[in-house]
Amino acid sequence: MQTLRSFVGGGWYEPAADFVPLLNPATEEVIAQTSTHGVDFAAALEFARQHGGPALRGMTLVERGALLKEMSKVLRENRDELLDLSRQNNGTTMSDGSFDVDGGGFALAYYAGLARGLEGGGLILDGQEVQLGRGGGFWGRHAWVPRRGIAVHINAFNFPVWGFAEKAACALLAGMPVITKPATLTALVAQRCVEIVIDAGILPDGALQIICGSTGDLLDRLGPQDVIAFTGSATTAAALRQGEGLTAVNCRFNVEADSLNAAVLGPDAEPSSPVFEMFLEDVVREVTQKAGQKCTAVRRILIPRQRLEEVREALVAKLEAVVTGDPSDETVGMGPLASAQQLRDAVEGIAELQREARLILGTGKRVDGVGSPAGKGFFVQPTLLEATDPGAATTVHHREVFAPVATLLPYDGGATTAAELMSLAGGTLVTSLYSDDESWLGEFLKTGASYTGRIYIGSETTVGEGPGSGAALPQTLHGGPGRAGGGEELGGLVGVQLYMQRVALQGGRELLGRLTGGSQPEG
Ligand code: NAP
Repeated sequence: MQTLRSFVGGGWYEPAADFVPLLNPATEEVIAQTSTHGVDFAAALEFARQHGGPALRGMTLVERGALLKEMSKVLRENRDELLDLSRQNNGTTMSDGSFDVDGGGFALAYYAGLARGLEGGGLILDGQEVQLGRGGGFWGRHAWVPRRGIAVHINAFNFPVWGFAEKAACALLAGMPVITKPATLTALVAQRCVEIVIDAGILPDGALQIICGSTGDLLDRLGPQDVIAFTGSATTAAALRQGEGLTAVNCRFNVEADSLNAAVLGPDAEPSSPVFEMFLEDVVREVTQKAGQKCTAVRRILIPRQRLEEVREALVAKLEAVVTGDPSDETVGMGPLASAQQLRDAVEGIAELQREARLILGTGKRVDGVGSPAGKGFFVQPTLLEATDPGAATTVHHREVFAPVATLLPYDGGATTAAELMSLAGGTLVTSLYSDDESWLGEFLKTGASYTGRIYIGSETTVGEGPGSGAALPQTLHGGPGRAGGGEELGGLVGVQLYMQRVALQGGRELLGRLTGGSQPEG
């Protein structure tokens, strides 16, 4: 059986004890094992500080961007292998795996392209110069410079490639060396990604390391120039916030956490209209893609009360048609949950939701999957619930069931009512609105935009073009307020600035111009 190695201190480290098994979630067969027993975390940090940081900061932004382009290229060249590993360890269908694998390559390629527009030195200018002195001799300007620490990336189990790539792209472009930590149970794919990049000899020594298992004392060793970018549950984020490194030295901490995203049908969307059909198609995809194990998945579906029956009927028919099973079987459209723990949590979560909402599709229990041995595999059917009193359904707005599970919430059609219901989740990553009524949309934004990181509007003009609300595109922000973590990733240069320090420069105008020479202002 394969034992995953961590890449630390300039070499591959193979552990000898304390193994955690990695399973194929469709068959429960053990496919690999991993551990960080014996990893010297202090040495890993020191190696990055001594080698990776200086090497990256010694390059221009354009040169660092070229590294990302090469990374994207080698991941693309090994796409088939990564998709197969993803099927084995994450239980993804080909299409779900490509959402992760291709999404990761795209994020790297996007940042490589962005870097090409950042001619000049190692800093990024921010905004315009401002005159500070009356006589015109004293000016101010903001600029971003690389932080001189390490970027520690802690990723969730569901996006091993994209999670690794989108974070690494931003940190490396900023000039910070990376230590990446995939979720242990699905570390197979991320580990292989890093192996591919290291074997290709693209990056300078110490620019990229990976630890495949627990973080040991790594986080306690971080300093004020370091950054932790965390993706995972709100519970883990809250625990990490108490850590020594964060509280004592104020290491920067970005959190991408849970989210009970809402899809809202506007009252103007007539049944059978293009917008209505797009809404149905998007909701089905955003509930079942990756078996609902997406932070951006739709968990709450807000329907004008007068459309409830039509929408319920249409969604049930479409969701019933999704074949659940082993992704090796070509007829399968949705794979298993990633682990026994995820299955337990999903079954418990559906039972909790049933206290406030009636089950209208699904069993609320584990089911057998097509192509899998009876009794094996962590399968849950697409599951739909319906709450009759959405305003009072507290659990529906707070319990994230990380599975293909969503709840129908009828509302009176008013934009403000819909926005208020959406906001009950206390902060989400994305909200999707399906309407062509600009005044209704504007009204929704007035109340709702403060409670969500992204608003995805499906209307006549976007039919056939929008990728669906679940896609976190590198050009626009990913992250959300409150419960969603309060973090900001991607969004062009915003994602890079997480790894940089903004400094206000004050002095003579021409001197500032020469010191910041040639760098492009933020676009
Ligand atoms: P999780 O249990 O919170 O774990 C996330 C990561 O944190 C894993 O790498 C885990 O490592 C690590 N971790 C846990 N405890 C730790 C500790 N004490 N010190 C250091 N690292 C620690 O979340 P998950 O089950 O992997 O992912 C599902 C959750 O992530 C869902 O709630 C989902 O909404 C959220 N998510 C959010 C986004 C987003 O962008 N907002 C994206 C994807 C997922 P181990 O595996 O070794 O425990």
